[in-house]
This record gives sequence, C-alpha cells and structure tokens, in this order.
Amino acid sequence: KKALLLQLKGKENVTLDGKKIKIYANIGNANDVANVLKNDAGGIGLFRSEFLYLEKNDYPTEEEQFIVYKTVAENMAGKKVIIRTLDIGADKQVDYFNMEHEENPAMGYRAIRICLDRKEIFKTQLRALYRASAYGKISIMFPMIISVSEVLEIKEIVEEVKEELKEQGIPFSDVELGIMIETPAAVMISDLLAKEVDFFSIGTNDLTQYTLAIDRQNPKLDKIYDSHHRGVLRMIKMVADNAHANGIWMGICGELASDLSLTETFLSMGIDELSVSPSLILGLRKKVRETNVDEVKNSILEKI
Ligand code: PEP
Ligand code: MG
Repeated sequence: KKALLLQLKGKENVTLDGKKIKIYANIGNANDVANVLKNDAGGIGLFRSEFLYLEKNDYPTEEEQFIVYKTVAENMAGKKVIIRTLDIGADKQVDYFNMEHEENPAMGYRAIRICLDRKEIFKTQLRALYRASAYGKISIMFPMIISVSEVLEIKEIVEEVKEELKEQGIPFSDVELGIMIETPAAVMISDLLAKEVDFFSIGTNDLTQYTLAIDRQNPKLDKIYDSHHRGVLRMIKMVADNAHANGIWMGICGELASDLSLTETFLSMGIDELSVSPSLILGLRKKVRETNVDEVKNSILEKI
C-alpha cells in the first residue's frame, strides 16, 4: 500500500473533473522538513513556532529564531512556508513566562492575547520572521483571533518592525499575512476579517472546542467531541464563502483537514488548501484524485 502511495509523488492534487487543491504539511519542528519534502508537500501550511519557546529555559533570542526560520525557508527552496506566531497558554505552558494560574486557561491568556500584551516578545519574533523572509517564501499567520481591531493592531506592529528593519538596512521580502480562524467570533465576522488579511486557515481543533463548548483535552468528552457536527461544518462553509467573496484564499490546518471522510465535502466547498501531517499527504492526494466534485457537490452541500 505504501509503494502504491509512493507512485503518487510528483503527481498533481487534482480531482477527476479537474479541480485543484493545495496539500501542505503541518510541522512542529525544523527537523520535520526532510519528511515534508519526502512526502512531496506543496509547502508548509502550519509551522507551530511554539517549540522554540517550549524546549528552552528562557526566551529564544531574535538570532536563534532567525536561524531556524531561515533554515526552514531555505530548505523548502521557494515553496510557501506559513509560520504561526507564538501560541502558548491553555494546554501549552512555559515556566519562564511566569503566567498566573487560571481557572479556565483555554479561554484565558494565550496566543495573540499574550503577544499583544507583551509586545517585546511579539516584535522579537516578527523581526526574526521578516529577516528570514529574504531567504525563501515565508507567510505569517496569527492564532486565536477574535476581532478586527486585533488584526489592525497586529498590522501596525508589523509596519513598525518593517520600518525599523528598513532603517537598519536589513533586507526582507513581501510576506503574506493571514489569520487562523479558530473561534466562532472570527467565523461570524470572517467577511470583515477577509478585507484585512491575505488568507485564512481554519484551526478546526480549537474551532470545534469553542463551538461545541467541549474541552479538547478532556478524554471523558471524546465521544461527543464531534468535528463533523453541522455547527462546525456550516462554519467552515461560511468562512470559505466569505474568503472567496473577498478575493482571498483559505485553507484548513486543524486535524480535520486529513479526515478523508470529509475530503469530498471540503472540495465541494471550494477550499483552496489542506494542511496535514507529512505522513498523510499522499493518502489525501489519492483521495482527491479519486473524487469527482461536480458529481457529489450538490448532494453534499444540501446535507450541511
Ligand atoms: C487548531 O486549533 O486546529 C490548530 C491547528 O492549532 P493547535 O492545534 O496548535 O491549537
Ligand atoms: Mg489552535
């Protein structure tokens, strides 16, 4: 079976009726890039930058981060690398951040909320990312967005960083800026958010948690943690429609992206990109190549 999948290397992600989709890889570490290339990913759709912070006893410096981002960008040789800014808090705690105990950390001080509160940490990461952009095709994505004002504030900080780099004569390239859609609020205002960013990527792990009000970490609730819930699927459809109506692309980088029982659904919604763990890329390509979207689309979308 593995040998059969390997025959799909170098082939396009195209359906029987000619619809194309991008299949990218999720990584959590710079060492994963070899596996990404081996499995013929079109790019990296989610680089969880947390590992840089989790594996250390102190804040990673700009230089340390720069080297990691640059290496990944260079090794991907011009293919898109979407790096997500720091997403700690909730289930990912880092001692040296000295975070206060919270009764409800999943709804607490985490991700972009920390970055907008402790701007020196955010700016250090943004400087490293922009510096690395001179060495490959880097995009930046921001987690846990709930409002347009957050995005506007992020863009202001990004402009400051670019200005500073320019003044210092440090080179950088154009960088696409995107946001993760992983809160119901972001879904419901995705028409407005789409006017402010270059792309969306849906984090279905958190979106399911917050939509169904089910802690993704509580094994007792596994049975009802249902990512196929129509509440979740309708949200994904809404995000796709709002993205496309506003001329931006959108993808999915949560676990649901690799759920082959939903590939036909995602293709029917016109989703542009699915980002999955490297070992699942060729299986997903196979599924895409066996699908005829025109044949299944109407009956699938009717049921959502
Ligand atoms: C998600 O929430 O679906 C996601 C991709 O982010 P993480 O799993 O890292 O929270
Ligand atoms: Mg998430």
